[in-house]
Amino acid sequence: MIQVQLNKPIIEIASSAGWCFGVERIVEMAEKLLAQRAPDEPVYCLGELIHNPQEVARLRAKGMVFVKSHEELPPLEPGQRRKVLIRAHGVAPSVKKILREKGYEIFDGTCPLVTIPHRFAREIVEQGYRLVIMGDREHPEIQGILGEVEGLNARVDVIPGPEAIEALQIKASDRVGLISQTTHPFEKFAQLVGEVLKHALEVKAYNTICQATFDRQDAIRELAQRCDLVIVIGGRNSSNTCRLAEIASQYTVCYHIEDVSELKGAWLQGKRRIGISAGASTPTRCIEEVKTAIEHLSGCL
Ligand code: SF4
Repeated sequence: MIQVQLNKPIIEIASSAGWCFGVERIVEMAEKLLAQRAPDEPVYCLGELIHNPQEVARLRAKGMVFVKSHEELPPLEPGQRRKVLIRAHGVAPSVKKILREKGYEIFDGTCPLVTIPHRFAREIVEQGYRLVIMGDREHPEIQGILGEVEGLNARVDVIPGPEAIEALQIKASDRVGLISQTTHPFEKFAQLVGEVLKHALEVKAYNTICQATFDRQDAIRELAQRCDLVIVIGGRNSSNTCRLAEIASQYTVCYHIEDVSELKGAWLQGKRRIGISAGASTPTRCIEEVKTAIEHLSGCL
């Protein structure tokens, strides 16, 4: 008897899912530093290199030492040299100064696209505008931007999106400059700019959302509209992964998982078309593992 298994779902991976150029670049830098180090020489990294627990664990096993801040870096003996890697999110200029003063050799992996909002933030403040940043205040990228304008005499606000515009208390005489965290949704930024325009005297807005973010958000929006389930893979501390899950949830059922161990067979029942996407710091390997697990659980293999 030939057994025909019906109801196998179609599985689609979003175009441009997984590592972006900034992540590829920083992981390559980390690998190079680890390969060149002397046997007992630690290579430090300020914060988790990328927001992906598996990748961080892999690099830790190879000898990378992750510290939460420069305060955790040990003082160096006279003449001693140690390397420290700055991740793609960047840091405030004051942090680089401290690292140099402590005698550390800096390897700056700040994504070139993250340096753009730094530059515009400074320009906005130097030109006498109020600075409004759309983003998560605690995110390292925003901390770096705030550090860029630290000590300059200007009002600086960070808000999550247009829904928080009241907090800005914009006056009719205000000149406002706006930028966004590189991984925030463009629609929210455009809406915020429009809202500020209704109240302020003058508005200057720079679209600082990176192309990789645009592409991923566009791709998941398109995918989610034709799937009855979307699985988004990536660290829960990854801003861009959370945004992808947020967008997919607007159109269909979506689960955000960190890796294949969190996938549940019950989610797949009765689903005809399953989409997979992943944040900019999720390795291809993790995407493939989830795809294979879905195929097994739904009887495709
Ligand atoms: S998401 Fe964009 S800004 Fe962030 S590291 Fe990747 S390419 Fe750079």
